[in-house]
Amino acid sequence: MTLLFDNASQIVTCAGAPRARRGAEMRDLEVLTDAAVVVEGERIAAVGPRDAVRAAHPNATVVDCARRLLMPGLVDSHPHGIFGKPRHEEQELRGAGVGYMEIARRGGGIHSSVRDLRARSEDELFSLALPRLRRLAAHGTTTVEVKSGYGLSLDDELKSLRVIRRLQQALPLRLVPTFLGAHEIPLEYRAAPRTRGEYIALIVEQMLPQVAAEGLATFADIFCEPGVYTTDEARIILGAARRCGLQLKLHADELETAGAAELAAEIGATSADHLAAVSEAGIKALAESGTVATLLPGTMLFLGRPRQAPARALIDAGASVALASDFNPGTSPTVNFPLVLTLAVSQLHLSVSEAVVAATVNGAAAVGLAADTGQIAPGFSADLALYDIDDIRELPYWYGDHRCLATWVRGVPAHGVW
Ligand SMILES: [Zn+2]
Repeated sequence: MTLLFDNASQIVTCAGAPRARRGAEMRDLEVLTDAAVVVEGERIAAVGPRDAVRAAHPNATVVDCARRLLMPGLVDSHPHGIFGKPRHEEQELRGAGVGYMEIARRGGGIHSSVRDLRARSEDELFSLALPRLRRLAAHGTTTVEVKSGYGLSLDDELKSLRVIRRLQQALPLRLVPTFLGAHEIPLEYRAAPRTRGEYIALIVEQMLPQVAAEGLATFADIFCEPGVYTTDEARIILGAARRCGLQLKLHADELETAGAAELAAEIGATSADHLAAVSEAGIKALAESGTVATLLPGTMLFLGRPRQAPARALIDAGASVALASDFNPGTSPTVNFPLVLTLAVSQLHLSVSEAVVAATVNGAAAVGLAADTGQIAPGFSADLALYDIDDIRELPYWYGDHRCLATWVRGVPAHGVW
């Protein structure tokens, strides 16, 4: 089937080389007017001036964009989509000044999500995740990375990853599964008779081989942060993950500087995420590497922390910067990716062009799909989002609003009725 997307106010293509944009390249945002897009099957076949494209495809089914804006579907490279109950009670406590450790002592924090997820069946987790991912999709996201990481046992991590596999079959979105067994050290390995070393051995010797054998994940991720996993432990776990054929990601230098960004660059991780506390050396290492710096400004906003990642310094040094939601029950329960773009402009001081590239081309690079999605260009997957705006600068401007009218993934309607 051939579709012809016609009559858009603007078509933002983000077209360019099929790789992450770095530094000044992030300002290149191709915006076309009086243009049209042809989709054949799952792929984009042509983009060009309206009249010429229409004349070349007289039999195509026309999708009238009604003077709205068409752009690549957003690529959310860092949400945590598999969890049970929300943790809304912690927000008020945090607002009242109760610290992270005290919230954990009262039974909150990540360990409460772990307790909760372990008690739920695969069916239950599937039913909870499905509408949450649909809400992400409703704001224009067409590719979603999905992490495990609230199981922290062999069975519960495999259960989470199997839920992701079922979601891949049930949803028209493109999902990228990530194994995050190294999200935390589970409580039962923090005191005698068990040790954290035994948990790391469980990840290396049992979890990773089984995840790989069942083909349940594309990436392995780790929370590399003082008080969670050290850089030495990350080296061991990610080394084992690579030997199992998985690509690598790190939660790096989120709250305290620990050299995790440097490690990510050194080992050739696909992305280093968070980076609010990245050092000068870490910025330099990322700028000189192929590792994408994925920034999550919604998290710092929600936690009420004044310190955001040094996005300007990263871009000015020549790094590739991506944006993502960090959707999760504790520190960033937002499904609104355009709101993250607002924060990128107002808090991270990105230009609109840089923010859009960070949420499309560079988001795709952060999940290893830069040659497949994130651009409206011939050969790319037909992953499109139609927004009820005239000008791309309105996307971060109407902050917190819901302007996405419809999305298509691989040429098939994924959200909205259009
Ligand atoms: Zn995360």
